[in-house]
Amino acid sequence: MITSEDFSHKNQWDVALNIHELNETGSQEFKSAKYLSSVLKSRGFKVTEKYAGIPTAFRAEKAVGQGGPTIAFLAEYDALPGIGHACGHNLIAASALFSAIKSAEKVHNARIVVIGTPDEEGSGEYSGSKILMANRGFFDDVDIVLGSHPGDSWDVGRQSLAVQDFEVTFTGTASHEAADPDKGRSALDAAILTYTGVNMMRQHVRRDLNVVIHGIIKEGGTASNVTPEKAVLVYGIRSSDIKYHGELVRRFSKIAEGCASATDTSCKIREIGPLFTTTKINPALSNFIRDRLVGRGAKCPSLEETFSKQPGGSTDFANISQIKPALELDFQIADEGTPWHSHVSLEAAKSIKAKKALDLVIEVLSDTAKKFAEDESFREKIRHDFLTNSLS
Ligand SMILES: [Zn+2]
Ligand SMILES: [Zn+2]
Repeated sequence: MITSEDFSHKNQWDVALNIHELNETGSQEFKSAKYLSSVLKSRGFKVTEKYAGIPTAFRAEKAVGQGGPTIAFLAEYDALPGIGHACGHNLIAASALFSAIKSAEKVHNARIVVIGTPDEEGSGEYSGSKILMANRGFFDDVDIVLGSHPGDSWDVGRQSLAVQDFEVTFTGTASHEAADPDKGRSALDAAILTYTGVNMMRQHVRRDLNVVIHGIIKEGGTASNVTPEKAVLVYGIRSSDIKYHGELVRRFSKIAEGCASATDTSCKIREIGPLFTTTKINPALSNFIRDRLVGRGAKCPSLEETFSKQPGGSTDFANISQIKPALELDFQIADEGTPWHSHVSLEAAKSIKAKKALDLVIEVLSDTAKKFAEDESFREKIRHDFLTNSLS
């Protein structure tokens, strides 16, 4: 009898819908991690929970035959605070699981791995968990990393922006705003000046390096008759060039410190989470996957066409591409131009279009795993491109 506990009967679409419904935000994906682990266990994978010391991470693996390379699929399953699975990470989870399950059926000699990587969106304590894992050597035994991400187009090598988030806390002096204004020093004034200063800086940056700077005022005081003694800004600074990104961060810090000085307050700048790098593209891997997609009817542009598009997002998958041959396949689940992190993408992540695209992604990624496991010259080409190409 099939009960709700019989996970071996769950298919990719069950998983996608279940994770969509669980709707757990970054670093809080306890039920999602448990559910995904159960599905993998039911298919004969050996699961390590709390992988790398991260409570909602896991690693599952299955050895097929003797020896062979280690092929890792990365699962994400964090939702966005407030809106839910509007980035479609429920589909990434389903794709990683079933690409691995299919791969284990297709290969003769390989170790097939799924790594559950929480908090890609950076909303919790383990923000950018892939980077935390990589820094502690948890990708060292892996030969290739495959992932996927839903969006409004097919792409096999989209560049991503380096990003670092910052929290800037200004500290002033509280005082009665009518009786003792001379004794007060406003942290809010420092925050507003900084916000304005950063707006001015935007005019004087390189246009060709996709600079994006976005910020909010998170705290700006508690009562209008008390000088705000604490104000907090949160910013994200992005660029498609990692060196230039460092230059932007230096200028940003100077603005905040200068504005604190100008208002007789002090400021502390804290990095939120790790630095997400740009993506290192692997043409051999991209071209193989693109051929398979096109052969099955997907409208996937060439690598050159993809490169002519302006990069928009950032991901901790990029950091993995810098240390191992890796590809995150972008798959289309919504019309081109659909805004992401929106109510439209939230619905798209459980649509029929997503269901069809997911099936195709699983076919193509498991074919790629098979090719990698069995064709030494393919492995060599990928290794060569990883060591030599400069598309990063
Ligand atoms: Zn995403
Ligand atoms: Zn997102």
